Amino acid sequence: MTNINDFNFAGLKALVRVDFNVPLDEKGNITDDTRIRGAVPTLKKILQDGGSLILMSHMGKPKGKINPKLSLGQIANAVASALARPVKFAPDCAKAQKAAADLQPGEVLLLENLRFYPEEEGKPVGIEKDNPAYDDAKKRMKQSQADFAKTLAEYADVYVNDAFGTAHRRHASTAVVADYFDDDHKMLGYLMEKEVEAIDNVLKNAQHPFTAIIGGSKVSSKLAVIKNLLDKVDNLIIGGGMGFTFIKAQGGHIGESLHEDDLMPEALAVMEAAKQKGVNLSLSVETVAANEFSNDAERQTVDIFNIPDGWEGMDAGQRSLDNWKKIILSSKTILWNGPVGVFEFENFAHGTGEIAKYVAEATKNGAYSLIGGGDSVAAVNKFGLADQVSYVSTGGGAMLEAIEGKTLPGVAAIKH
Ligand code: AMP
Repeated sequence: MTNINDFNFAGLKALVRVDFNVPLDEKGNITDDTRIRGAVPTLKKILQDGGSLILMSHMGKPKGKINPKLSLGQIANAVASALARPVKFAPDCAKAQKAAADLQPGEVLLLENLRFYPEEEGKPVGIEKDNPAYDDAKKRMKQSQADFAKTLAEYADVYVNDAFGTAHRRHASTAVVADYFDDDHKMLGYLMEKEVEAIDNVLKNAQHPFTAIIGGSKVSSKLAVIKNLLDKVDNLIIGGGMGFTFIKAQGGHIGESLHEDDLMPEALAVMEAAKQKGVNLSLSVETVAANEFSNDAERQTVDIFNIPDGWEGMDAGQRSLDNWKKIILSSKTILWNGPVGVFEFENFAHGTGEIAKYVAEATKNGAYSLIGGGDSVAAVNKFGLADQVSYVSTGGGAMLEAIEGKTLPGVAAIKH
């Protein structure tokens, strides 16, 4: 595989898939530019070598139609200031041949939102799956998607994918386009390299004891993750809302706590599988319960198996935290996904903050820690501990799919 660090971009045009899907307010102002800043190391390397940049991204979900509110033109100035140079804008991403051909070394061209074309995502438009003509429409769309990807590929000499957030999608710009470059002319950007390395550090090269902390609201959304991890970890901590399904399945009284009745058999199967595989499954033993789902609710700490009627478990109790602290501090590899309480409410954020502290402390003692997937990332940021863990992933869905053991098409297209 070609490595970006060893590649010299001098005199070459680089087509770079970035993730510039930044949040905007109603006036089109960027409210968080993390994603733009995240791409800068890759973009600077190419420019400093004497290459030129053709930047492509999606923004939001325009569903194959032009939508001015989701135009990447709105962020061209922000990209220009991040790169400290002018940025040209191509208002039609599939008709940028001339603009691309005219690019000089050191220049930057930003393409309009790729998802204004349905070919980017490659889903047939205006036809439902149960329609007998769907398969034909899908075949036709696959061909148009390949043509669209070829159009993009022809703008440049080399392809770089630095958009980890969309690496789990087989879209024109994230995977199909790579078919039009030989192995010496396609590579991962720095951000992607770091994400892939972080995943490998926990899934392939983990030091033991390896502990996974899985929290969040629903068992259903994390079942595949849990199943894959059972073959890899020594300790599995299950906390947060999803823990109550495991407690109820064992005959516990969980009051009004969040749970999924239909997943109780799965929860018991996970417990049995953990036993068979010698995994130490650590569930909550005590919870801080509330008499309503609000920050100002009344609170009481109760045994997890005896939550009173009318009360719901909202945060991890101290006895749970004490157990988890011991496990986390004795770990050499830690993977954390999902909060162990309703951390958005100040009064129920304590447990999640403590977990963040334990993970930071274990990291200081030499453990490798990866925080991945939406809300746990928000949690370490909230407690100001993001720079005290080994790696914080930027791609929620992509990270979860990787932890499930799935191959990410965006990575596979380059690293095969
Ligand atoms: P997820 O997206 O599955 O990682 O879930 C994150 C959400 O789980 C956050 O919004 C938390 O507020 C929520 N959550 C965590 N613990 C609980 C709980 N005990 N009861 C209800 N929601 C919870």
